[in-house]
Amino acid sequence: MPVPERLDPPRLNIIGAGLAGCEAAWQGASLGVRVGLFEMKPDRMTPAHRQEYFAELVCSNSFRAASLENAVGLLKEEMQLLDSLVMRCAMAARVPAGGALAVDRDAFSMMITRMIREHPLIFTHSKEIFRMDELSEDVPLIIATGPLTADALSHDIADRLGSEQLHFFDAAAPVLYADSIDMSTAFRASRYGKGGDDYINCPMDREQYLAFYQELIKAEAVEFRGFEHASVFEGCMPVESMAVRGVDTLRFGPMKPVGLQDPKTGKEPHAVVQLRQDDHAATLYNIVGFQTHLLKREQQRVFRMIPGLQKAEFARYGAMHRNTYIQSPGRLDASYRLMEPYARGKTIYFAGQLTGVEGYVESTASGLAAGIHAALGMLGGSIEFMPHTAIGALARYISDSSIRDFQPMNINYGIIQPMHPSDPRARKAKKDRKMQTAENSLNTIRDIRDKLVHYKKYNSSE
Ligand SMILES: Cc1cc2nc3c(=O)[nH]c(=O)nc-3n(C[C@H](O)[C@H](O)[C@H](O)COP(=O)(O)OP(=O)(O)OC[C@H]3O[C@@H](n4cnc5c(N)ncnc54)[C@H](O)[C@@H]3O)c2cc1C
Repeated sequence: MPVPERLDPPRLNIIGAGLAGCEAAWQGASLGVRVGLFEMKPDRMTPAHRQEYFAELVCSNSFRAASLENAVGLLKEEMQLLDSLVMRCAMAARVPAGGALAVDRDAFSMMITRMIREHPLIFTHSKEIFRMDELSEDVPLIIATGPLTADALSHDIADRLGSEQLHFFDAAAPVLYADSIDMSTAFRASRYGKGGDDYINCPMDREQYLAFYQELIKAEAVEFRGFEHASVFEGCMPVESMAVRGVDTLRFGPMKPVGLQDPKTGKEPHAVVQLRQDDHAATLYNIVGFQTHLLKREQQRVFRMIPGLQKAEFARYGAMHRNTYIQSPGRLDASYRLMEPYARGKTIYFAGQLTGVEGYVESTASGLAAGIHAALGMLGGSIEFMPHTAIGALARYISDSSIRDFQPMNINYGIIQPMHPSDPRARKAKKDRKMQTAENSLNTIRDIRDKLVHYKKYNSSE
């Protein structure tokens, strides 16, 4: 790959020090680019952010499945190969969570903040940005302001990209103090014994479940203000909305009992509520899949009906928020760069949840890709994340202008391009096919890593 002459490092501006913005900054700086990172916290907080630190996890503390059998496991592995800051800190702040990668959220965000602040090429600014052209127009820009982008910038983006900017709702689950959980009723176990006793399980018999269900569906929720017609993302649906779909819907969703045995009865309960460790010290547990929009007093009343949670104390109540994403197909290319005529001759990238990828890991992956593309563009180089990699599959998804009803998307094997059937390495069994796809993808990512090392060497100070 050709490399440019050595000059003063060029500069890249990034708005938003969330998961995507921090990852983009780290990747850009690793390639030798100077990064200006603008974050409005702590002066201004979104409705979901509470901490002063960067890369705050606003709801669950889980980065989901770790295994390659699940596409999100592959996405994480790809990012680890590319020295992802978020993955590095997530591994360091890991807490037990069965087959998932979950973190102590404070330790995680504090470590990211420290590493960003200590990087000699990253310059952080505590400042809300109101308009895209507010920062120097000659400097490439990455907008990574997330699903709760502050209003002024949100309007500016909508003006430039057209009025089809979309909103939907997202919800967060409550977090409880561990010492308020009655462990004489609840028991520790992981589903099918995978992951030891990482989860706390609250078992219900049929009567308890039906009584809980009846109260849940009639409990009072916070009023939607002005967004009545917005849709709810299926993957983050409030537990009370899911319940309304049918008496057994929760038993096939967040309250499914399969693979769990109550040690008291030796049997599978009728339904189970699972709690996952939320911090290193194991003082906090979140209620898995119980994102909710109920009033606080209703959360107390209804969730305390769950056996084991009768005296539960809430460290944080569940809440629901607006979520914003742009109509990326036709506006962004597969490098997350804004296309003409929307770019108006400027170099602007988008990254994170705002682009229509969905989830912590996916938002990070888009930040990683946008950061690498933006930095390489400034250094006169380029790489391609092919659609047979998980990172590339997400980029192709958000830039695929043939998609009519564009909806936020989690990574899944369905969108990763499989090996061509004529390739002798392509196998038939579904599990093997996933492993083959993963292996193929990781080989490609290793090649990309080697190409990037070439730039990193060139740009190092020796
Ligand atoms: C309430 C809620 C709960 C969610 N729960 C989960 C979950 O449990 N699991 C999951 O995988 N995903 C979840 N998501 C989805 C998504 O993964 C997260 O929102 C994720 O943090 C997105 O990363 P991001 O980097 O795009 O945005 P963020 O992490 O939100 O980062 C954006 C940053 O930009 C800053 N900012 C915003 N506007 C401006 C401005 N004008 N100027 C300067 N700074 C600005 C914000 O303060 C913030 O720090 C949730 C989303 C919401 C809204």
